[in-house]
Amino acid sequence: MLLQDLRQTWELDSVFPGGSESKELLAEINWTENEAKELAKKADSFTFSNETFLSLIKELQSFSERLSTAGAFIGCLIAQDVKDKKAMALRGRLESVYAAFSNVGSVIDQKLMDISEDAWKDLMSLPEYEHIAFSLNERRMNAKEKLGISEESLINDLAVDGYHAWSTLYDLVVGRISIKVEIDGKEEELSVGQAENKFSSPDRNVRKDTFEKFVQAWDHEGEFCAASLNHIAGFRNEIYKHRGWEETLKEPLAINRMKEETLSAMWNAISSQKEIFVKYLDRKAKLLGLDKLSWYDVDAPLSSANSKMSYDEAAQFIVEHFRTLAPKMASFSEKAFLDGWIEAEDRSGKRPGGFCTGFPTKKETRIFMTFSGTPSNVSTLAHELGHAFHTDVLKEMPYYATNYAMNVAETASTFAEMIVADAAVSNAKSKEEKIALLEDKAQRSVAFFMNIHARFLFETRMYEERKAGQLSVERLCELMEEAQKEAFNGALDEYHPYFWASKLHFYITDVPFYNFPYTFGYLFSAGIYAKAKEEGPSFEEKYIALLQDTGKMEVEELAQKHLGIDVTKQDFWLKGIELAAADVEEFLALTEE
Ligand SMILES: [Zn+2]
Repeated sequence: MLLQDLRQTWELDSVFPGGSESKELLAEINWTENEAKELAKKADSFTFSNETFLSLIKELQSFSERLSTAGAFIGCLIAQDVKDKKAMALRGRLESVYAAFSNVGSVIDQKLMDISEDAWKDLMSLPEYEHIAFSLNERRMNAKEKLGISEESLINDLAVDGYHAWSTLYDLVVGRISIKVEIDGKEEELSVGQAENKFSSPDRNVRKDTFEKFVQAWDHEGEFCAASLNHIAGFRNEIYKHRGWEETLKEPLAINRMKEETLSAMWNAISSQKEIFVKYLDRKAKLLGLDKLSWYDVDAPLSSANSKMSYDEAAQFIVEHFRTLAPKMASFSEKAFLDGWIEAEDRSGKRPGGFCTGFPTKKETRIFMTFSGTPSNVSTLAHELGHAFHTDVLKEMPYYATNYAMNVAETASTFAEMIVADAAVSNAKSKEEKIALLEDKAQRSVAFFMNIHARFLFETRMYEERKAGQLSVERLCELMEEAQKEAFNGALDEYHPYFWASKLHFYITDVPFYNFPYTFGYLFSAGIYAKAKEEGPSFEEKYIALLQDTGKMEVEELAQKHLGIDVTKQDFWLKGIELAAADVEEFLALTEE
C-alpha cells in the first residue's frame, strides 16, 4: 500500500471528546478522585482470603488502567499545546490522585507481607495469577527488604525536604546560570541547554570558547553543586545502611530486574573492545584537522550532508523496511499512520522531543513528535513506533504484567531504530551522506560505551567514597576526570572534570543510577537485532514473545527463555558491540585518504 496524504495531527476525540473541555474527561477525573478514597478504605480494612485478595487485585488493576488512561490523555493535551491551562489544572488534580493511590499501595504492601509464606505460595500458583505473580512477588519482596511501614513512611515524608529538595535546588541553580559568549562578534547569553547545543557547532572556536565559559560557570557554582550531590548521596547511603543493604548497586539492579554478574559482563565486554572506538575518535580528529579531539569536539559535525524526506516518504520508508525483518510491526505501524495515532505536525506551541504514550482502557497508543524531515526525525519516528508496538503486543495482558523496567523499555524502540538506520545507510545517495549516517551511529556507540561508562564509573566510586565523608569540589573533579580518561581509553586531549556538576542525571532522586540502563537497553537490543538478521522475518514470533514477557521476569530469564542466551556471560554483549564496531570499520574505510 502506498502511504500518501497522511494526516499529521493525531486523533484524540475517540478517547475523550472535546480536549481539555471534555465533560467525559472531567467525569473520569471525578471518578478517580472518589475511587482513590474508596480504595484507601478497602485497603485499610482488608482481611486476607483467596477471594478477597483476587477481587482487590482486579479492582486495583482496573483503577490503574483508568487512571493511566486519563493521565496519558492529559499529557497529550499539554504536549500538543503547552499553553493549555485547563489541561494543566486537570493534571494538578490527577497528581493528588497519584499521591493518594501511592499511599494505598504502601498499605497493601504491608498486607502482602502479613500473608504467611505457605498461603502466599498457594495463592500465587493459582491460574488467575499466571501473568502477574512475578510483579506481586516482586512487590512483596521489596516490601520485606525495607524497614517497617512506619519507618519507611517517615523516610518518605522527610525525603521531601531532606532529599528531593536538593534535586529541586540543583534545578534552580541550573536555571539561573547564564553563559556569556561572543559569536560572530555578537555577545550572546546562553542557558545551560543552549550552551550544550553549541558543542555541535561546526565552528571549533565557538565550541571551544563556549566550553571554556561553560566550565567557568560550573566552577562558579561548584560548591553549591557539590553540596547537593554530597547530601543526595549521603541521604541515600544512610537509608541503605539502615535497611542493612551493603551494596550501593542493590537498588538500581533490583529496579532493573538484573543481576550484578550481568552488569559486570556487559561493562567488561565493553572495556575489552574500546580500541575500535578510539580509532574512530582519532579519525574524526584527523578529519577535523586536529591531533586529538577534546571533550567539546566529540559531537562536532563532519559535514552537513543529509537529505530530507517528506512525512509521507518517511512513513513509506519506515513501513517498507520494518517489513523485511518484522512484518507485524510493519502492519501495526501502517495502521498507526492511517488511523491518526501520530502527532507529527511541525508547528509552534508544541512541547519539544518525542514520546509514546498508551491508553490502556482503549488498548491504543499515541505518538508525539515534531517532524521536519531530517534523518534524526525519521529515526525518532521509528523509535516511537517501536515503543508503540511493544505496548500493542502487551495490550491483552493484565495491567500488572505490563510494567517493564527502564533497561528493557528501550529494547523495542532501539530495535526499530536499528532497522531504519541500517536501511538509511544502504539507501544513501552519496558517499558524504553515507559517511554522515555512519558517523551518527558511531557517535551513539561512543555515547553508550564511553560517555555513559564514565558516568557509571564516577557514580559508583563517588557513592563508595561518600560513605567515609563528604567529597570536595576538587575531589569530585578528580574522580570525574579519572573516570572519563578510563572510559575513553585516553582518546581525548581535554576532558570535562565538571561533568558531575553539569549532568542533571546525577541529581535525579526518583531513580538511582540513571546511566547503565541506557547502555544495557542499547546492547540488549543490538543482540536481538543481530539474531533477527540471522534468522529473517520468522524471528518476529520469538521477538514478540520476548516483548510479551518483559513485564514478568528478570532479564537473565528473559534472555535465556527467548534467545537461549546467558547474559551473565560476555559473549552476548560482544556480539552487540561487534555490530557497532562494523559501522565504525565501514566509516574508517570510507574516510581513508
Ligand atoms: Zn525511547
